Amino acid sequence: MSGTWLPLPAGTGFGVDNLPYGVVGGRVVVPVGDDLLDLAAALAPVQARLAGLVDRPSLDPLLAAGPATWAAVRGALTSLLTEDRPEHRRAVQDALRPAGEPQLPFTVADYVDFYSSEQHATNVGRLFRPDSPALPRAWRYLPIGYHGRAGTVAVSGTPVVRPCGQLSESVYGPTRRLDIEAEVGFVVGVPSRLGTPVRAADWRQHVFGVVLVNDWSARDVQAFEYQPLGPFLGKSFLTSVSPWVVPLAALEHAFVDPPAQHPRPAGHLLPAGPGLALELEVRLNDQVVSRPPAASLYWTAAQQLAHLTANGASLRTGDLYASGTVSGDEPDQLGSLLELTSGGHRPLTLPDGTTRTFLADGDAVRISAMAGGISLGAVTGTVHPSP
Ligand code: MN
Repeated sequence: MSGTWLPLPAGTGFGVDNLPYGVVGGRVVVPVGDDLLDLAAALAPVQARLAGLVDRPSLDPLLAAGPATWAAVRGALTSLLTEDRPEHRRAVQDALRPAGEPQLPFTVADYVDFYSSEQHATNVGRLFRPDSPALPRAWRYLPIGYHGRAGTVAVSGTPVVRPCGQLSESVYGPTRRLDIEAEVGFVVGVPSRLGTPVRAADWRQHVFGVVLVNDWSARDVQAFEYQPLGPFLGKSFLTSVSPWVVPLAALEHAFVDPPAQHPRPAGHLLPAGPGLALELEVRLNDQVVSRPPAASLYWTAAQQLAHLTANGASLRTGDLYASGTVSGDEPDQLGSLLELTSGGHRPLTLPDGTTRTFLADGDAVRISAMAGGISLGAVTGTVHPSP
């Protein structure tokens, strides 16, 4: 971790190399150690113009401002926290706030969910379509995805009310197969022009940062409804995101080569750009059930962005696109209960002796992630019974 004059708890994942952004109490804040920094208050004495951009209850204007401004804000913040001068100490100390309830930090414009883990797509294909090839025909040629429901993307901690749906020809009722999907989400800042695809090489001109996503899923609803148009009510009841948007600038040390791609993708999906070595951790009632490795994702953030605009569809500030469930090769690296329990056939035994196939009312799920010493925070949710 870079040095700071500010005393921080040992081993904090929110040191001065991280500096993610969120909204608490109607203010844009940056978690530093266990405290929050009111960003506009901290910047005001040193960078009045930049302070104005974040003196509001949302990250939207900062997201829209683009890479030069993102770098300027991060640079100003870093200098405040690392250069030990009396005016810096005063600005920071006057802007420190106690922790509080995070809010959804940006207006989610469109929401897209991909299906970019080969391991996950293979596992689900075997369970849902045992008589067909596990990977759909197009899977190795493009990052398959679908448009989800932006209006039901909610911040971490939002209650997960067990959804009702059609579970079969004759049954409408509460889902019996409520599941999680541990995913990595990318937050778009800079819009693009309708009719003009975004080149894969230009992804960082548009993508601001990363959040963790739990794409809650009702598997019985999903299995009955999804062919041929894809997920609908089995997914759209709620998608939770972590409160802190970690800028790509804080994650460059975690950029890694993605898995080799065969066949070679079409030209507009190249260069592939980096994969992201995030170590996810899934806890159910505070017991670790999985550690999915995001570095194993087959398709990258750059390729997902190039694909989702390849037809000229435009980007808006606040677009969120998620990787799809992250699953690794090992049995303890699977990002959904569907996979962890082989479709509900093999119950999972937790360390405390309880067993689960899918989520029970009252269950608490927490997905967190680290990238080296940098924390991406966590996305949490507790299951409430159907009303
Ligand atoms: Mn998903």
